[in-house]
Amino acid sequence: MDLDADFIVIGAGSSGCVVANRLSANPQNKVVLLEAGGRDTNPWIHIPVGYFKTMHNPAVDWCYRTEPDPGLNGRSIDWPRGKVLGGSSSLNGLLYVRGQKEDYDRWRQMGNEGWGWDDVLPLFKRSEDQERGADEFHGTGGPLAVSNMRIQRPICDAWVAAAQEAGYPFNPDYNGADQEGVGYFQLTTRNGRRCSAAVAFLKPARNRPNLQIITNALVEKINLDGRRVTGVSYLDKAGQHHTITARREVILSGGAINSPQTLMLSGIGPADQLQTNGIEPL
Ligand SMILES: Cc1cc2nc3c(=O)[nH]c(=O)nc-3n(C[C@H](O)[C@H](O)[C@H](O)COP(=O)(O)OP(=O)(O)OC[C@H]3O[C@@H](n4cnc5c(N)ncnc54)[C@H](O)[C@@H]3O)c2cc1C
Repeated sequence: MDLDADFIVIGAGSSGCVVANRLSANPQNKVVLLEAGGRDTNPWIHIPVGYFKTMHNPAVDWCYRTEPDPGLNGRSIDWPRGKVLGGSSSLNGLLYVRGQKEDYDRWRQMGNEGWGWDDVLPLFKRSEDQERGADEFHGTGGPLAVSNMRIQRPICDAWVAAAQEAGYPFNPDYNGADQEGVGYFQLTTRNGRRCSAAVAFLKPARNRPNLQIITNALVEKINLDGRRVTGVSYLDKAGQHHTITARREVILSGGAINSPQTLMLSGIGPADQLQTNGIEPL
């Protein structure tokens, strides 16, 4: 079966779930979201400490390993990445930590209009449902639940006290005015359950008639007509190849490893490396 869509989103991870939600909020947009992994039905995904069961599990993790690294005495190490609805947000450490104000301002200084701290802060607030309530830095009522740690152990309290004795200021909110100091984590959980990007952003949107979510769909290639993207090709679980035509845009949100890989498989990337891998550069 070949399809068409206005927007094709590759990868249903942290970013892809948000993009698919926002684009399909407009009923005029026909959106197809393609995810290489399956649905997030594994119960360990939703239990915060369940990442001990999901990381390194090929059913939900790409199970990458790094090349041997001279800086690690030649060792290679595991490099987990989520392969399931929610992507890495379905198996990550749940810590809600924003970047530094200066990081975003530097992005804007580099020419990225709309990415400065004053631009992103209202969006952080809008997306958030902060257990502590709304203030200058936090929002409530958004799709992404942010909670305090439910368990506070004496050893953690002792560690925080020791850090203060060593001169580090106590910071009750490292996502607030200042990131410096020592304090307790904020977590992307609601009532003790993981609030992944799929739970926060896909679940509320998944019944929209203009959003089609296709799981077990491995995008093999972005299709081009000259230098213009026309759609994507993907492989389903049964080994069948499909093509989808994009009337407007293809959004590549396959994560830090797979997005560049998908570009390279499509002939986009450093010419010498493409040729080494037998791919004809664009
Ligand atoms: C083990 C671990 C712990 C982490 N802990 C934290 C933490 O505590 N706090 C924090 O803020 N961040 C944490 N992170 C980082 C955070 O989870 C990631 O930065 C974030 O999820 C990346 O989002 P993304 O959308 O770029 O990619 P991902 O969420 O990885 O999503 C990419 C999606 O694209 C899919 N995909 C890839 N290739 C294809 C293809 N060819 N066809 C179809 N689909 C494809 C993947 O299967 C995946 O679902 C952690 C990450 C890991 C792996």
